[in-house]
Amino acid sequence: MDHPPHAPIAFRADPSSRPGRNCAIVGAGFAGIAAAIRLARLGYRVTVFEANAMPGGKAAEWRIGPYRFDMGPTILTMPGYVDELFDLCGEDPRDHFNYAQLDPSSQFLFEDGTVVRMYADPERLADEFAERTTANRASVLEFLRRSKVKRELTDEVFLQRSLHRIRNYFNKPTLRGVLQFRKVEAFTSMARANAALFRDAKAAAIFNQYASYHGADPYAAPATLNLIAYYELALGSFSAKGGMHAVVKALVALAERQGVAFRFNTRVERILVERGHVRGVQVNNERIPFDLVVSNADAHSTYHRLLTDQPRPNRTLDQPRSSSVIVFYWGMDRTYPALQLNNLLMSGDGRAEYDHIFNKHRLFEDPSIYLHVSAKAHASDAPPGHENWFVMVSVPHNTGQDWDMLIRATRQRVVAKLERMLKAPVEPHIVREHVMDPRLVEELTSSAFGAIFGSSSSGVFASFLRHSNFSRKIKGLYFCGGSVHPGPSIPLCLLSAKITTDLIAKRERK
Ligand SMILES: Cc1cc2nc3c(=O)[nH]c(=O)nc-3n(C[C@H](O)[C@H](O)[C@H](O)COP(=O)(O)OP(=O)(O)OC[C@H]3O[C@@H](n4cnc5c(N)ncnc54)[C@H](O)[C@@H]3O)c2cc1C
Repeated sequence: MDHPPHAPIAFRADPSSRPGRNCAIVGAGFAGIAAAIRLARLGYRVTVFEANAMPGGKAAEWRIGPYRFDMGPTILTMPGYVDELFDLCGEDPRDHFNYAQLDPSSQFLFEDGTVVRMYADPERLADEFAERTTANRASVLEFLRRSKVKRELTDEVFLQRSLHRIRNYFNKPTLRGVLQFRKVEAFTSMARANAALFRDAKAAAIFNQYASYHGADPYAAPATLNLIAYYELALGSFSAKGGMHAVVKALVALAERQGVAFRFNTRVERILVERGHVRGVQVNNERIPFDLVVSNADAHSTYHRLLTDQPRPNRTLDQPRSSSVIVFYWGMDRTYPALQLNNLLMSGDGRAEYDHIFNKHRLFEDPSIYLHVSAKAHASDAPPGHENWFVMVSVPHNTGQDWDMLIRATRQRVVAKLERMLKAPVEPHIVREHVMDPRLVEELTSSAFGAIFGSSSSGVFASFLRHSNFSRKIKGLYFCGGSVHPGPSIPLCLLSAKITTDLIAKRERK
């Protein structure tokens, strides 16, 4: 039964409670685990409540017969933010977490047989585009140069601290960013900037495709988001040893060594608030007192499911949603030498594809396909002579479409496209299958409408409209994860944990 807003709350003591400040974290996604480690270092007693049986949220792991799959993220960028957590605890990251740089990071395949590989060395990358497309070398180098400037102007302002505290605007980096705002290219779209720079449809399509890594529409998203390609190309794209879920497990073990308690299969039912202050959480109908609560659950579902008796910041929560995915996880009983670890099989009409996903909320008949084969890097992920295929297409978030019908139609299109482009049979070699769609994304991770990346990054002011890392109305309530500032993807989620715990350190002095 729901409590009236200000009724006193009767608590049952947490059996593990000891004197001192304690903090509950809702969710063991990347950001929740990172926040737990950081808060434990600040001296908090931390309990992480996770609805699922395993940690990781979108970065969970599936074993389907003899095949292992990462459920969601496959590309690791900026691994230094993972290292930082081990450093903070005085441990050598290399004893627990290892990775290798990918070069090329991925290959883009087109229906006419063109293959473009994304090499790490800028000169080699420029040569590759000059050889395989009609884009010239200089345009590729110019793309990287402009992106470097964007990064220098935005990194500290947008990624390293809260955007929602006025005092953070009065400093040198912000002033520099404001004075050179033109260079950030916030008022032109990615697609427009890329078309003007490359004048080659394939090159522009490749760089536009990086918008999908944040669930954004390159025809609406500011060209600032060309930074996503830059992070991968200039700062490196990595494969985590043992797969992405191995990183999750290493961080959970680190958190446990810092004294963090994890309670799996334990869904938080309510965040308890009394007279504008967080008082604890309710799990299994029990009220457990906590001084602070950090929600790593999607901000929309935090308000709509856990804070039903509290006012909602509707302007933030009602922002358009990002896209979602259909992923086919296929065990294949043969290998495909034409494939690398990361492959993008491009749509013949990117503009129409994005229009379908973001404006019409429908699926396009010729989708771009991301095909990741982790067994190419980790042989043990599939039996010898077999491969594990992670086959992903971007789709709109869930607005009640007939997903069973759409999955059937997408499967047919995807198999036909793969057989056409790989010039090899696919269907007869699928021996195991599992499918994820927006409904399952929501069920497994509580992400509203199955949107993978929270609210959309497509608008010019999207960064400012994303939920803040703290509640303005409820003292002691904080947020971290892909649906809040600074946004989605593993490195940004790790940064959100850092921003949130830095705020806690400042605001919650004993
Ligand atoms: C298919 C796919 C591919 C992706 N590819 C990449 C990639 O290659 N590289 C990259 O960097 N990023 C990628 N991403 C994005 C990245 O995975 C996410 O941005 C990131 O993992 C989100 O982490 P998070 O901290 O926001 O938590 P989430 O992963 O969203 O986890 C939140 C957790 O909270 C739990 N929870 C929610 N409500 C409750 C409750 N009431 N009680 C208890 N627990 C609760 C959920 O069960 C879940 O475990 C991908 C995502 C997907 C789905």
